[in-house]
Amino acid sequence: MRCPYCASDHDRVVDSRAADDGRAVRRRRECTACQQRFSTYERVDHAPLAVRKRSGSIQPFDPDRLHAGMQKATANLDIDPDVVRFAAARVEAHLRAMGESEIGTDVIGGHVLEALRALHPVAYMRFASVHKVFTSADDFARELAALDDDRLPAGHDPAG
Ligand SMILES: [Zn+2]
Repeated sequence: MRCPYCASDHDRVVDSRAADDGRAVRRRRECTACQQRFSTYERVDHAPLAVRKRSGSIQPFDPDRLHAGMQKATANLDIDPDVVRFAAARVEAHLRAMGESEIGTDVIGGHVLEALRALHPVAYMRFASVHKVFTSADDFARELAALDDDRLPAGHDPAG
């Protein structure tokens, strides 16, 4: 990395640590020519991904927003925050693996629902109702009935 002080191409890394919630690595470097220190950030080089909203408007995909939505759906359900973070990262990975430059919010919502379903039925229903994934009350009832009984918390009777 070229030194910003003297333009020498020679440096050594004196420290490396995670930054930006694990999405980047910050390296502290020292120029071997002038001994000045500077930092560089290393990130995965993603192709740009856009989200197509139901209104037709396009906006850049925001992983933080995806994570925040899943956090909200899982709030107060005694789920390890790391588990939610990993689940959000897996959803992002699935979306990127589709290889599309533009993905509809309905597709993203479907992936999020799948992930939440595996975490907690309440998180699943919360997300589905807030984001109006279901178009009618019948859809909602059908989804509720389709949830695996064994995933419901102990003592909860889905029929009652
Ligand atoms: Zn230098």
